[in-house]
Amino acid sequence: MTIYAGTIVDTPGDPFAGDPAGALRQDEALLVRDGVIRARGPLATLRAGHPGEPVTRLDGGLLVPGFVDTHVHFPQIRAIGGLGLPLLDWLEQCALPEESKLAEVAYARAVAAEFLDGLIASGTTSALVFGSHFAAAMDELFAAAERRGLNITSGLVVSDRILRPDLLNTPQSALADSEDLILRWHDRGRLRYAVTPRFSLSASDEMLDACAQLLGKGVWFTSHINENLAEIATVAGLFPEARHYLDTYRRHGLVTARSVYAHNVHPGDAELAVLAEHGASVAHCPTSNCALGSGLFPLRRHVEHGIHVALGSDVGAGAGLFLPKEALQAYFIQQLLGPDGLSLTPAHLLYLATRAGAQALGLDGRVGDFAVGKDFDAVWLRPAGGSTLAVNVRHAKDVSDALARVFALATPADVADVWIRGVRVRDAAGPGPR
Ligand SMILES: [Zn+2]
Repeated sequence: MTIYAGTIVDTPGDPFAGDPAGALRQDEALLVRDGVIRARGPLATLRAGHPGEPVTRLDGGLLVPGFVDTHVHFPQIRAIGGLGLPLLDWLEQCALPEESKLAEVAYARAVAAEFLDGLIASGTTSALVFGSHFAAAMDELFAAAERRGLNITSGLVVSDRILRPDLLNTPQSALADSEDLILRWHDRGRLRYAVTPRFSLSASDEMLDACAQLLGKGVWFTSHINENLAEIATVAGLFPEARHYLDTYRRHGLVTARSVYAHNVHPGDAELAVLAEHGASVAHCPTSNCALGSGLFPLRRHVEHGIHVALGSDVGAGAGLFLPKEALQAYFIQQLLGPDGLSLTPAHLLYLATRAGAQALGLDGRVGDFAVGKDFDAVWLRPAGGSTLAVNVRHAKDVSDALARVFALATPADVADVWIRGVRVRDAAGPGPR
């Protein structure tokens, strides 16, 4: 057992449902045994109740739950920074040529390690990962994630049209390869499988039918939707009988409470109603939307329809794996939307980067906050001494104010340590004295 003592903050409440400040909770100490949080409260109380237990002091900065990234592409970790292109051109010129390289297993193995180590270094301990088009590359990702103890939900990306030929599979091969992967990896430790058509633009009705068969096995589902106007127009042309983009998935039974759709920057009200009716979640990817010029995410309309929204980094279109940066960009976007925006508080930002993601992935019984009984997945954000962030945290008037300064200023260099189920996995000395 260990008692962790510091400035511990999480969002056991939902800031979108009531008073945002009331969603935030601060504590002095957590008691952790076998990777699970057994008690929380004042340090003196936990020490008195558990005399003799070692105390690990995390002085300075904030201890927050491990971040949850609900949309990130593992084969694109080497393809960040392709600026100046809209979605479909970026895919063709930047992303897909790189994704083709994962046909080679040794390449995929190296990329999987870089990707997962990058997640940990950014404080992300759970993720819904958009996979590779190659089954052997998925074996590499799952095996590497298992070794690191990460909560990873992922699956083979399937497509049978329009993309470059080496990335295409047939509905039959997609079914067979996915079934094998599900048998090997789904519900194995912290790993789960997600059926993943790239988007209906590149998936025929037959392929989407195959996806529906796979979803019937109790796995998860993810794909893209309503990211870019040219993409939406192309999908409308490919499915003339569909009522809207979401309908291309809905007709195959792919809109469910286990479905997470990335982007949804340009939804119609009918699509929002269908998402809400089926309890599907949306992964909002702010830096990607800005980098590709996709548009400003209508968060208020999602919230008013009762749709659950979490954050995704969408690497490689996004500008890195660090979820606080996505939360800050989400805040900027809502400010730019003026009266149509939803002004976000520090409690919203922490919730979006942690508990909202756990809820979208059905993991909120296990991670996402520091409630007693949950896994101790945690990030210690402690800025280097003398840094502008350290100065600002020192002058914060309360924990909410400290969080605001962290979201404004923190970078992965401020990730001092990370725990996955109680195991310390990163002991970063960092770039300077702390
Ligand atoms: Zn994406």
